[in-house]
Amino acid sequence: MAAFSQDEIDALGTRAEAMVNALGAISAEPDRLVRLFLTAEHRRAADRVAAWMREAGLEVTADARGSVRGRLAGPKRLLIGSHIDTVIDAGKYDGPFGVIAGILAAEHFIRGDERLPFGIDVLAFGDEEGSRFPATLSSSAACAGAFRTENLKLADRNGVTISDAIKAYGKSPDDIPNAAYKAGEAAAYVEVHIEQGPVLETRNQPLGVVTGIIGQTYLNIEFLGEAGHAGTVPMVLRRDALAGAAEAMLLGERLARETKGEVVATVGRITVLPGATNVIPATVVVVFDIRSASESAHAGLVETLKNGIREIAERRHLGLTITTPRQVGITPCHPAIQDQFAEAIRALGAEPLRLASGAGHDGQAMAKLCPIGMLFVRCRGGISHNPMEYASPRDLGLAVATLIGFIERFDPEKVG
Ligand SMILES: [Zn+2]
Repeated sequence: MAAFSQDEIDALGTRAEAMVNALGAISAEPDRLVRLFLTAEHRRAADRVAAWMREAGLEVTADARGSVRGRLAGPKRLLIGSHIDTVIDAGKYDGPFGVIAGILAAEHFIRGDERLPFGIDVLAFGDEEGSRFPATLSSSAACAGAFRTENLKLADRNGVTISDAIKAYGKSPDDIPNAAYKAGEAAAYVEVHIEQGPVLETRNQPLGVVTGIIGQTYLNIEFLGEAGHAGTVPMVLRRDALAGAAEAMLLGERLARETKGEVVATVGRITVLPGATNVIPATVVVVFDIRSASESAHAGLVETLKNGIREIAERRHLGLTITTPRQVGITPCHPAIQDQFAEAIRALGAEPLRLASGAGHDGQAMAKLCPIGMLFVRCRGGISHNPMEYASPRDLGLAVATLIGFIERFDPEKVG
């Protein structure tokens, strides 16, 4: 096992930070970080990553969706990946650091004397955030053999479909099935990512072992009332769709609070029609984003909320339609992978805190292919999806050293 001195860890962190900054400078806009899937910026970032992979000694290819793959040959493969697309006005660390950690860790084994009994693929996905097209995780889904062909028709704000964008990128949608790994080829998928939350910082720990990625439900609630004059319709005769929606939102907040942290529920978007100051709202759509690491608490809250909303609609004489446009179950991280990450963290003198991921990640798609695991890195203030995002070079170095220690401990037989 490699033993790292603090100087070596800091050297890894300094390199990682410089690489994070280099990718962070590749943006569609001069004043903020915007790097969307299948754009010129995606291409520049992918080229940069491919060059680093080659310098590290990896054999580089790119699939039909522009995902870059750096390979260290071996009988079975450990996949290490993350994404290089960003949200609009993003931070630099979310995604790129996971790719960079994979490259630096693979380089350690290429340059050093240790020989691994398995191969490594470092993967840089181009479409995790879903900021350009209304679909997320579609690059990792392609690698997992779970890409939905109907997604090719999805269009961005300018009417460009994914299919057209792939062709403009110089690739062919027909080749997407070739991006998929064959059954049994991938031993596991692991990802290093900033936490994007405050738990590690609060507990004063640099690294965390992820137990699983939480489940998520979108509940789309449409209340149908009746439009009317804001001055002439008496209060008792109104069927105000927005007042009903407001009650539903407060109910969702109360139910989530009552779970004492087990479930979080958010309404971040609301549509009000006709949407005029002097007209009683006739149609209101609110979308609840409900997430939890507990399958039963999650299901319980969704059921109670739906029943409560039905009661509100009935009492207020509102029409009601409830749909569930998104329902993703909990994705557990493999216990053996969790333990191997924990051992690697302990070997570096830190405490392996275990925590669930409240954000979605490529691992959710890769779990369809093979067991997954994740390592979280502390980020300042828990801030992410924001230019203020920051992780210290020392924590980045510790994360790369931990990934190296994990690879040394990784045993494909234990996760089979
Ligand atoms: Zn991310």
